[in-house]
Amino acid sequence: MSLLEVADLDVAYTRGNTRMPALRDINLTMERGAIVGLVGESGSGKSTLGLAIAQLLPGNGRVTAGTIAFDGTDLTSSTQAELRAFRGKRIGVVFQDPSASLNPVLTIGEQIAESIRLHHDTGESTSLLTETLRKYSGGLARRGRSWAMAVDMLARMGIPDPAGCARRFPHQLSGGMRQRAAIAMALSGEPDLLIADEPTTALDVTVQATILRELVELVREMNTSVLLVTHDLDVASYFCDRIAVLYSGQLFELASAKEIFENPQNPYTQRLLASQPNIDDESAELAVLEGDVPDPADELAGCRFAARCPEAIDLCRSTPPRLVTLPERLVTHDREHQCRCLLRDGTATAAA
Ligand code: ATP
Ligand code: MG
Repeated sequence: MSLLEVADLDVAYTRGNTRMPALRDINLTMERGAIVGLVGESGSGKSTLGLAIAQLLPGNGRVTAGTIAFDGTDLTSSTQAELRAFRGKRIGVVFQDPSASLNPVLTIGEQIAESIRLHHDTGESTSLLTETLRKYSGGLARRGRSWAMAVDMLARMGIPDPAGCARRFPHQLSGGMRQRAAIAMALSGEPDLLIADEPTTALDVTVQATILRELVELVREMNTSVLLVTHDLDVASYFCDRIAVLYSGQLFELASAKEIFENPQNPYTQRLLASQPNIDDESAELAVLEGDVPDPADELAGCRFAARCPEAIDLCRSTPPRLVTLPERLVTHDREHQCRCLLRDGTATAAA
């Protein structure tokens, strides 16, 4: 059984009296321990998908169709009490703004230690923290142990003076340190899945890379899966095993990072890659993706990318493509390569 199986998922927001679709027909499977990058332009629905999986959609957002099976349990039909058990413990969340997950009136150490105590009270403790617990168990009271484990988590996230950091309040830390603390907090319950929504976008580039490296090292050690939301394809290719490309509320392509970079098949992914600055050849001319992403709420007859796609034929404007596993002749490294395009799935040639 896969850790996460999102099937035929639709999510909509209500604005005024109108229901505005934000995600359409999302199918995404994540294996245990996998790091999946979710990429796409602004407004494509990346955060909505992360929030839907974590069951943290705002009050006006709702799953309108489909299922989100987490370790075999459908979260969309679970009760509030069941969901509370998942959130935090089995699914951790970290946002672009660390203050969204840190309590301003508690010290960093107090809040991480509290989360560790909650986790251990349920008897669900596993590998990494249990090891640490054993290390500190010699005569230390329970409170002291969870504090020591909190300091240990901060150290693992690359905080240079972890004991000092634990005694500080969130506002006393720099942006980078605050985000490290938020990640340590999200991982302190040893979740099976971490949803990380642009966790480093607000920080400067070198700090971003260091924090992501620390995060990836820690989750690999814990065998925690990560859905890493990013608009940066280089980040996705460097840190992720698989990449999911979202466009206007739909998944357009899904494959291993290597496959997406070396053999992108969806015309949108191809142009998205061509429009990214090339680190190896800064003089290379950037392709420009003309036009805007249609609002996911817009009802369109055919492919949602057709209006911007230089390869589009009439059929693309009238027939919506489905996300399908590509035929073997089109794949290079990944037989599970999935793509949403009539020109690639055989429909266009069959119709010609
Ligand atoms: P960004 O890269 O800018 O963070 P994103 O890919 O995360 O974008 P979302 O924030 O998921 O995109 O937004 C997807 C769509 O849902 C957009 O059309 C957006 O306007 C709409 N939307 C998001 N949040 C809400 C909300 N709380 N109420 C109404 N509509 C919303
Ligand atoms: Mg977002």
